Amino acid sequence: MGRLELDAVRKEFADTVALDGVSLDIAAGEFFTLVGPSGCGKTTTLRTIAGLETPTSGTVRFDGEDVSGVPTEDRDVGIVFQNYALFPHMSVRENVAYGLKFADPPGGKSVDERVTELLDLVDLSGMGDREPDQLSGGQQQRVALARALAPAPEILLLDEPMSALDARLRETLRRQVKRIQTELDVTTVYVTHDQEEALAISDRLAVMADGRVEQVGTPREVYERPATEFVASFVGENNLFRGELVGTRDDGSTTVAVDGSEFTVDDGDLATDDLTFCVRPEDLVVDADDNRFEVAVDTAEFLGETTRYYADWGDRTVVFRTPDPHDDESLTLGFDPADARVL
Ligand code: ATP
Repeated sequence: MGRLELDAVRKEFADTVALDGVSLDIAAGEFFTLVGPSGCGKTTTLRTIAGLETPTSGTVRFDGEDVSGVPTEDRDVGIVFQNYALFPHMSVRENVAYGLKFADPPGGKSVDERVTELLDLVDLSGMGDREPDQLSGGQQQRVALARALAPAPEILLLDEPMSALDARLRETLRRQVKRIQTELDVTTVYVTHDQEEALAISDRLAVMADGRVEQVGTPREVYERPATEFVASFVGENNLFRGELVGTRDDGSTTVAVDGSEFTVDDGDLATDDLTFCVRPEDLVVDADDNRFEVAVDTAEFLGETTRYYADWGDRTVVFRTPDPHDDESLTLGFDPADARVL
């Protein structure tokens, strides 16, 4: 139980099309993330799943059943918002117990037993009597999570739950959320604009832009095989090369001309004359054997394990990352034909 489907969901607000035909099929127990830039429709998708918005057209189904007419309180969803929304004058226990106001605790437990169980789950056992302002942001968000999980919902919806926290705390909470989700095996839809977070936490993710789903896949699929230029540049860093098809060789590789330079790429079903391929910064290699081109280094950023370089190639900028520092102003970069992805 807990499969969630959206079928061609469209949502219009006055003159804005917030969702333009969103279809998703999320498996029971899956940790699924909606990621994309501000205004792309993530929150509207989540609110539509929750029943807080009604689609202009299209269908939302839970376990195969159309829930369009079902109000939020009867949808069996738990929701955590960005701003915690805890009651300031209630204790932590009372806040978590509030999650059981409209639903009985599962398994015939008492409210008290269930609250204790939930506080254990989110590692806040000793803090039940505190009020929210005596907790850190991360702890408050764990209380909100415990409250949402108290009635044991089939589906957990998380809308940017970590965006108010600093980077280090976000990473800790991310691991905790993932552990809890795995332990409970609850279908989870997580909204974030942070692509790194999306890659780190998800079983699968949907990259959204302009009210549409650009690509759905596992983190590795989306990173290694971006389907569109948008996904290639939004998820991780990338170098995009727009060029023209020169020809295909017997070994299946293809030659592409970019501003007068020819490159060989292995990838692609190359039906068009104009094509774009991308190469990740970690795949651009100094003094590589193949696909060589000269660049002038512009900026170097020391990142600890690696250094990120921005360099000029003609009138474009390429970015590459390497563990070995380079002091030269001009370098020869290149890449393995297998590391280029045609978009
Ligand atoms: P963010 O990351 O900034 O929260 P988002 O990806 O969650 O963005 P949505 O909040 O879903 O995006 O908004 C999608 C589009 O719909 C935006 O253009 C937004 O302005 C518009 N929108 C959302 N809610 C409403 C509303 N209640 N009335 C009018 N327009 C709305």
